[in-house]
Order: sequence, then structure tokens, then C-alpha cells
Amino acid sequence: MIRISFILWALMLVTWCAMRYPAMRRARRQKTAVDKRTPLDISLLVLCTFGLVVMPVLWRLDVLGGLADRGQGIVTLVLGTLSGIAFLWLFRRSHKDLGKNWSVTLEVREGHQLVTGGVYAYVRHPMYASFLLWGVTQALLIPNWIAGLAGLVAVLALYAVRQSREEAMMRETFGAEYDAYCARTKRLVPGIF
Ligand code: SAH
Repeated sequence: MIRISFILWALMLVTWCAMRYPAMRRARRQKTAVDKRTPLDISLLVLCTFGLVVMPVLWRLDVLGGLADRGQGIVTLVLGTLSGIAFLWLFRRSHKDLGKNWSVTLEVREGHQLVTGGVYAYVRHPMYASFLLWGVTQALLIPNWIAGLAGLVAVLALYAVRQSREEAMMRETFGAEYDAYCARTKRLVPGIF
């Protein structure tokens, strides 16, 4: 059960990396108009890579030596698989809807357009919502309290720092258009939060 769980997690990890790769390549060619990257931003991305990728692999290589291991049950495995599928769907949808306006850090592109359609019609941060789902998926599929929760903690830290700074940047760029968009959308969960 533990091995199946880890393989499922690894397959989903490879899938989302493959989905992101074309966007990363395209982003490299895109010119930046406003750059709000800070060392804190970069550090949080490194923390996310560590929490979301390195920690589960270290756990699998038994670097933790069994510390904080938990058992794995079929219900947790099924729930983890379902939340992973939901993550992959939302991740792909938000990448498609954001198109060439996507960037890994806080940037406004030359010719940047405010996206308010697709999943962005329901929430302002569907991609961050998808990563929170991925954090939950990891917690369910990696049966270790430390390695399992490391991803969710890292994503929560990134979101907490980014969300207000990203919205301020978008407001500076798009003004009243962004205010109107904020007035009709929630951040992560449609109609609720
Ligand atoms: N917060 C969004 C986007 C994450 S990618 C989400 O979770 O789905 C981060 C970049 O997307 C930011 O640098 C910003 O330039 C851009 N961005 C965020 N919201 C946007 C929107 N509604 N339209 C266009 N670009 C947006």
C-alpha cells in the first residue's frame, strides 16, 4: 500500500511538471514590464521545491529513518488519488486560462492582459488553490507526518506572502478594472473565501 501510494504521488508529480514545462519555456521568451520579485519570493519558491519534491523523496530513501511514519489505509489512498486528480484538472485549467500572462514569480508582462474568464471567473487564485490541493494530496499519499505535510506548509507560506502583494501589483497595473474583478470574485473558494 505504501509503495502504491508513493508511485501514485510520483506519477502525478511527473504529470504536473510535464504540464508546466511548456509554460516555463514560453515565459522565458516573454518580456517583463514590471518586476516585483524579492529575495523572499525566491526563497519561498525554493522552500516549495523542498517541501513538495525533495522531502517525499528523502522520506522514500529512508533518510528520516522511520521517524513520524504512519500507516497507510485504502480510504486515505483513494482520497489522495481523488484530490490529486482534482489538482491536475484545476492546475491545467488555470494554466490554459492564464496563457502567456503566467509567471512563476511576481511579474507583469509586456502586453499583459487581465484574465477574468474560465476558472478566473470564479476565483482570483485558482492556481494557488490547485497547489493547496496538491499539498493535501501529498499529505494523504505520503504516509509520514513530516514529509507528508511539508508541501502543504510550504505552499501555505508562499500563498500567505504572495496573495496581498500580487493583488497590489495587479491593482497598480489594471486599476478600476481589477477592483471590479475583485468585487465579483473570491480568492480561493467560489462564493466562500
Ligand atoms: N494568482 C493566480 C496566478 C498565479 S501565477 C492564480 O493563483 O491562479 C502569478 C502571475 O499571474 C502574477 O505574476 C500575475 O502577473 C499573473 N496574474 C495573476 N492573476 C491574473 C489575472 N487575473 N490575469 C492575468 N494575470 C494574472
